[in-house]
Amino acid sequence: MLRRYKGARVNPPISVLLVEDNDDDVAILRRYIRRCPGSWRVEVAYSGAEALQMAVMHRHDVAILDYHLPDQTGITLINSLRETVPELPLVMLTGNGDERLAVEVMKAGAYDYLRKVELSPELLYRTLHNVLERARLEQEVREAHHRLREWAIRDGLTGLFNHRHFQELLQSEYLRAERYQQPLSCMMLDLDHFKSINDTYGHPFGDEVLKAVAATLAGVARQVDVIARYGGEEFVAILPNTDLEGALKLAERIRDEISAQPFQFEEQSVQLTVSIGVATSDDRRVTGERDLVKQADAALYQAKWQGRNRVCVIDPALPYIPNRHRVGGGLRGLTPPPLLLNSNGLAPLSMLDELGRRSVSDHLVAALKLFEARDPWFRDHSPRVAALAASFGASLGLPTAELGALKLGAELHDLGRLAISDQIWLKPGPLTEPEWAEVKTHPARGARLLEQSGALSQEALIARHHHERWDGAGYPDGLAGEAIPPLARLTALADAFVAMTAPRPWRAPMSAEHALAQIMALAGEIYDPLLVPRFVEHVRGLSLSPRPAVTEE
Ligand code: GH3
Ligand code: MG
Ligand code: MG
Ligand code: MG
Repeated sequence: MLRRYKGARVNPPISVLLVEDNDDDVAILRRYIRRCPGSWRVEVAYSGAEALQMAVMHRHDVAILDYHLPDQTGITLINSLRETVPELPLVMLTGNGDERLAVEVMKAGAYDYLRKVELSPELLYRTLHNVLERARLEQEVREAHHRLREWAIRDGLTGLFNHRHFQELLQSEYLRAERYQQPLSCMMLDLDHFKSINDTYGHPFGDEVLKAVAATLAGVARQVDVIARYGGEEFVAILPNTDLEGALKLAERIRDEISAQPFQFEEQSVQLTVSIGVATSDDRRVTGERDLVKQADAALYQAKWQGRNRVCVIDPALPYIPNRHRVGGGLRGLTPPPLLLNSNGLAPLSMLDELGRRSVSDHLVAALKLFEARDPWFRDHSPRVAALAASFGASLGLPTAELGALKLGAELHDLGRLAISDQIWLKPGPLTEPEWAEVKTHPARGARLLEQSGALSQEALIARHHHERWDGAGYPDGLAGEAIPPLARLTALADAFVAMTAPRPWRAPMSAEHALAQIMALAGEIYDPLLVPRFVEHVRGLSLSPRPAVTEE
């Protein structure tokens, strides 16, 4: 049988760096130290330069320095040692009766001093003992500080930076990127259907998954990247000196890695996917660190909407128009970013997708037509909005895939009205508060229907957001400015114009110019201020020829 040897724990010897050029003094000190209780090891340096070298090369527990050295004074040496090995406790040996010097030495950072004339083994031992004890306490305090700091900046579960520290780092990274004119990218990640993992396998299992995901992120990231837990099952990354292309590559790698590996704990194994939104400081919409996160968040939202397990960038579908109000930093020679759409979004659809899309959309359009036909005032509203939105989109040079989504989305933007009771819809008088609240659910309800079809995610975005306002006061999500999907902003303009120029029970139709004036007055409040002038120009161009989209009955 093997027996484990239980020897007494032997403490390593206490290591002393003795800096002394006088051989007699070295001999005395060695003798005194040998007489101290415990085990000691002494290394001697004969000059300040040699002392510095030795202190860097070996770890010592304490240094005893003679004040008078051949190459420098004790004060100079203390200063250099404090700089290179700040945690090494120092004891200064001084000459005869020099009290002023002693004070100076302590001020420079020595822990204690010894007058050579008074030196005895007892005094030396007492001094070294006290100094070592103080150094030990200080080390404990330093460690506690470190632990406290780590505790304050890190997330307890994953060990990644926490939300608060992320905000601090975001700010400093953004300033640095501006100063050095480097691109800075941001990535927002949210695990897909994480609630169901908790529900199926339990919360502790969910926690393990979060830890594993954090480890994957940390493994993929570079040293300079800042990875944090943004909240619950959301993570965020700041990528210094990384442009959109680099950020997309990294995001795609993370998405790939997470979806490829099963997360396994004990007997259970689960497959997981993540949605990622990416944004970069080279985007004209980003003029501060908050915009960077906001854009990444909006892109994440889009990724969720488009079906999850994908990487998205907020679609810069609109032509690039420099923002004259942008201050500082310049535009860094920005060129319009290419249309960046994820693989499942608006990339050419496969044959099957296209067929499915068409048959679903045909049914929905037909249903909406039947519905609207019952109300003489709204008859043909949707097809007109669709025609105007599509012609406007074409004038902006949108690519075919997007034009298709715009036209269909505009056609179906009010689909949710089907879900609202006729009592409200056909009510002759003004609506009550609760009735209005009900009406306001139509964008989200329509969007849900479209999303469920599986093939109409862009159209769902249009339906959901066609009542958002540029100033954020719209519904259902209160999105503001560029966070509102561009196609929805476009549709909102067409929707408003068609409604204004159609007759209503309570008013005559507005003239086209009157309607345009109303829209211009609300640019920046309700409507996208960059799009309005183009819309006006477009409609005026149309009015030269017969106006199929806006003729009155
Ligand atoms: P999706 O993001 O794809 O829309 O669906 P989801 O199911 O992930 O939805 P959501 O983001 O709204 O839900 C997040 C869930 O994450 C809710 C909560 O149960 C879970 N969660 C948040 N923090 C923790 C945590 O610290 N531990 C565990 N186990 N679960 C958490
Ligand atoms: Mg979430
Ligand atoms: Mg989630
Ligand atoms: Mg509507």
